[in-house]
Amino acid sequence: MGTAVRMFDPLFVPFNFKLQPDQIRVEVDRFRASVEKSREQLKRVQAELGRKSGPESSFLIDAHLLVLQDRLFVDRIVEKIETEHINSEWAIQQVSDDLLQAYDRLNDDYLRERRGDLEDIVRRLLHNLQLKRMPSFKKLPYDSILIGKAVPPSTLFELRSRRIVGLATETGSPLSHTAIMARSLEIPAVMGASDLSHVSSGDLLIVDGNRGLVIWSPSEETLEEYRNRGRDEKKLRKKPSGSASGPCLTEDRVRISLGANINFSEEIKTAAANGCESIGLYRTEFDFFREGKQPDENSLVEDYSHVLKGAKGAPVTFRTIDVGIDQKTWEGVNLNLGARGLRFCLENKDVFKKQLRALYRASTNGPMRILLPFVSTIDDLDAAREVLAEVRGELDLRRHAYDPGIPVGVMIETPAAAQTCDLMASHVDFFCLGTNDLIQYYLVIDRSDQSVMHLYNPFHPAILRCLHQVYTLLQPTGKPITVCGEMAADPPSAAVLLGLGFTSLSVNLAAYPRIRRMIRSVSFGQLRELAGQILKMQKPNEVEEKVRATVYRT
Ligand code: PEP
Ligand code: MG
Repeated sequence: MGTAVRMFDPLFVPFNFKLQPDQIRVEVDRFRASVEKSREQLKRVQAELGRKSGPESSFLIDAHLLVLQDRLFVDRIVEKIETEHINSEWAIQQVSDDLLQAYDRLNDDYLRERRGDLEDIVRRLLHNLQLKRMPSFKKLPYDSILIGKAVPPSTLFELRSRRIVGLATETGSPLSHTAIMARSLEIPAVMGASDLSHVSSGDLLIVDGNRGLVIWSPSEETLEEYRNRGRDEKKLRKKPSGSASGPCLTEDRVRISLGANINFSEEIKTAAANGCESIGLYRTEFDFFREGKQPDENSLVEDYSHVLKGAKGAPVTFRTIDVGIDQKTWEGVNLNLGARGLRFCLENKDVFKKQLRALYRASTNGPMRILLPFVSTIDDLDAAREVLAEVRGELDLRRHAYDPGIPVGVMIETPAAAQTCDLMASHVDFFCLGTNDLIQYYLVIDRSDQSVMHLYNPFHPAILRCLHQVYTLLQPTGKPITVCGEMAADPPSAAVLLGLGFTSLSVNLAAYPRIRRMIRSVSFGQLRELAGQILKMQKPNEVEEKVRATVYRT
């Protein structure tokens, strides 16, 4: 439950802070300076457009310049700053939200389309203000719920624990990285909410991540219901998850390894405090691109050493940078499906080598494994191994200490890797199964697109057969395999994985207790039998029903 804070574009979150009376004059000047700067920029653009494409196109800019002269807009913002004692960004946000809604109510298509001009000018004003002085993240309103078209995972990360209690976006899906990040931060989130345009900054909202609901202006009765639910959830979380320490055994005493997935280095503390036996997946790209610029090698060594020390002896699997899905685009859609993971790293060797050098240099601080994402050919794998050897050579020359025996593994997350994992086995030390991408590419469903999410189904016979095949191909090789996709984080689908023979899972921290509980409550033998039965079934629904009946003993 909280206050909506609309994000204008994914890079900009306006802050709300109260001004002291003596700051108001300065704030109004700051706003007017931004208007002036925007006007000058637009005049320059207009002149250039006029030179290049003639007077017709330069008129387009007139619409923007007119907004900057519009008293309804500029004077209302000044008035808000003066009477409500709020900062320029928040005042712009509130006035423009009202005007945008008025545009939406218009019957005239042409005029309605002009809302784009207003959005554009607002974005320019906000950025020009931002360049002058970055407000502190501490200035977000208490209990903020971020809403907008898209929120990149990096932004969510930057804002973590800064009073954010919820997130709702028009794009994305429960499997996009922003959603995964929100889950590890335990922020309720609804992704792919169809239309949030009528929500203004400052409105009261409830985001129900369990049911996928965004409730706008809830009634007192609904508020009370959610207050009660919140209290119940808190109690449930406090309840011990059934001996957090000690090995994780099924009812028939089969040992299952349960690791934790982390997305940023600070999570290591929580993982260690909860007695997680390993970090099965550390997605390093979020920390790598955190500052919006490339980190240098020494600071990476420091970060990775910090993670290893924080893990207190538990092995950490560092996945090398996997850019792609939501790192490269703000639109919530993956425009560049192919240039991901290892492919990106091989195309950007400087970046790759820098990260590998840092990993090796940090390796003296604790057990680590290096995991290569998005691998589809043995040639890529060989190329990666060559780079690894080069890096070790460089470190030898520079006389840096490192662990020469760090295990190197690959993610099985492309159909090509699933089909050829046995061939890859002699080139690697271990495997991780990335069901998020594997299902995406197997069932041809963009995991960042909410509109096809109902088709994303881990119980699909094609997926069961694929996983069964991977297990069968790898078993004779003796190479360890951990399943680290979200399929392992939901008890029924995780039970299917056990049934198919996988005895090592790694899940996000929020899911850790429930998966641990599930493992301790099931019989491995019974799940193996169940897998034999579901592999013969035709429809995902039948499979899911059968699995649920076994796991929940209904
Ligand atoms: C996966 O694809 O299943 C996975 C674990 O990696 P990510 O979610 O980062 O793509
Ligand atoms: Mg993946």
